[in-house]
Amino acid sequence: MNDQLLQKLKTRLEDMERDIWFDLQETDGEVATIDSDCLEDYASRAEARQSKRVALELKARQQRKLRQVQDALDRISAGHYARCSRCRNEIAPERLKIQPEPFCVLTARKSS
Ligand SMILES: [Zn+2]
Repeated sequence: MNDQLLQKLKTRLEDMERDIWFDLQETDGEVATIDSDCLEDYASRAEARQSKRVALELKARQQRKLRQVQDALDRISAGHYARCSRCRNEIAPERLKIQPEPFCVLTARKSS
């Protein structure tokens, strides 16, 4: 993989990191609102509980995604971004452009 492409992917990952981070703050705010007993927006306590569960699930998903993107940035810094974490094959640049997972297409296919 050439440096120019790597730099481009890195910039995109950094953008993603920022976006996810903002989303995460928003979700946190939502959870805090539900927790602060401002329940007038909700028809019932059950509904508030349900909304909180949905928000917490969303938060967990966002945190997972953020970790994945940060891992990818770490791998770029360490200089082995394009190596599969499992079999050490090179990961196709086309694949890295779509998603930041550290697996080549063969490994990903086997584990899915
Ligand atoms: Zn692999």
